[in-house]
Amino acid sequence: MLPFRFDPQDLPPPALELQKEVRAFLDETLRDYPAELRARTWTGFDADFSRKLGAQGWIGLPWPKAYGGHERTALERYVLLEELLVAGAPVAAHWIGDRQSGPLLLKYGTEEQRQFFLPKIAAGEMYFCIGMSEPNSGSDLASVRTKAEKVDGGYLVNGSKLWTTHGHRCHTMIALFRTDPKPDKRHDGLTQFLVDLSSKGITRRPIYDHSGGDDFSEVIFEDAFVPQDRLVGEEGNGWAQVMSELAFERSGPERYLSSFVLMQEMMKRIGGNPSDQEAAVIGRLTAHITTLRRMSLSVAGTLERGENPSLEASVVKDLGAVFEQQMPNIAHDLIGADADPEGADSFERVMAYVTQASVSFSLRGGTREILRGIIARGMGLR
Ligand SMILES: Cc1cc2nc3c(=O)[nH]c(=O)nc-3n(C[C@H](O)[C@H](O)[C@H](O)COP(=O)(O)OP(=O)(O)OC[C@H]3O[C@@H](n4cnc5c(N)ncnc54)[C@H](O)[C@@H]3O)c2cc1C
Repeated sequence: MLPFRFDPQDLPPPALELQKEVRAFLDETLRDYPAELRARTWTGFDADFSRKLGAQGWIGLPWPKAYGGHERTALERYVLLEELLVAGAPVAAHWIGDRQSGPLLLKYGTEEQRQFFLPKIAAGEMYFCIGMSEPNSGSDLASVRTKAEKVDGGYLVNGSKLWTTHGHRCHTMIALFRTDPKPDKRHDGLTQFLVDLSSKGITRRPIYDHSGGDDFSEVIFEDAFVPQDRLVGEEGNGWAQVMSELAFERSGPERYLSSFVLMQEMMKRIGGNPSDQEAAVIGRLTAHITTLRRMSLSVAGTLERGENPSLEASVVKDLGAVFEQQMPNIAHDLIGADADPEGADSFERVMAYVTQASVSFSLRGGTREILRGIIARGMGLR
């Protein structure tokens, strides 16, 4: 028997109600938003849009009302995310706080941290980035070397983080630092901190990728002071805490909808009278996306029940990345048009962006090989 489960999960009536509301809001708010920007989906950073979503009450949806949340279910949140991604809404500014850092603080944060950070995240006013990877520490996260040394009232941090998505635009980094170097026990001695990125001793440099975008950054710490009350959870427990974040990071609809705008553009190009070949390709893509949706929804249901679906989340992310990455090749074979960032046609512009971005889909959030290693271990194969 397989060691993972994907129980069927239906959407309850409040989720279907919310779906209608979100669709109406997005139709109105994004009416003139161009396709090539929609193609960026959850990497598009737009503080105004995040504030608008916060004003709607659509960030931190399941969190307690005392912290600015709305005590709605994980399935309602799922539907909200799905609609945002399908519409290509620019959600990056609040995405990490909503998906990861908020839930982390609810689980491990102090009361003061929750009261300080969560309402600001929920209002769409405070943006978080993830400070895990470093030069020479990506897949092998336990090799993190950026050091936080205990000093009076807090810690002094030295080292650097790399590939920090929107690190130069966010207010706060949820960072993993080494507080107690133990060469023989690399998973011990790691600690999570909430780092105010405007602090003295922190330099942020954007990194330009091959599409010309500057989503990434390098963040350098030189004797940067982090106060004691910004330590998250327990000192030395960072590894376990980070692992608990990864189920949130790996299972959501963003793991199979990153190329959805390209699929829409492809269908627009084909129009209402497809050839047999076009109908077969679109039919197959639709079957795949429907299956991925049911799997991802099932993980949302598992999270809602308070269980840990980290193995299932890895399966969804791996299959989702395969699906998302295939889309530009399938579109090219079917439509035959060039990918052109300056093209007159929106299909060509979307194709250009997704083609360039798609190589990263099986790297971000854990590489394909690492995920397959986790799945193999979960299946008892290694
Ligand atoms: C778009 C994007 C956004 C990102 N955003 C962030 C962010 O916000 N914050 C952050 O901290 N990081 C971020 N990252 C970094 C990302 O987590 C790392 O790139 C990833 O973990 C891989 O690490 P690496 O780049 O050091 O590659 P490496 O770990 O050096 O891997 C290189 C290759 O070797 C393979 N490999 C490595 N180890 C093994 C192994 N044991 N078995 C088999 N194969 C192996 C990998 O699968 C990969 O193909 C982002 C990356 C991308 C592409």
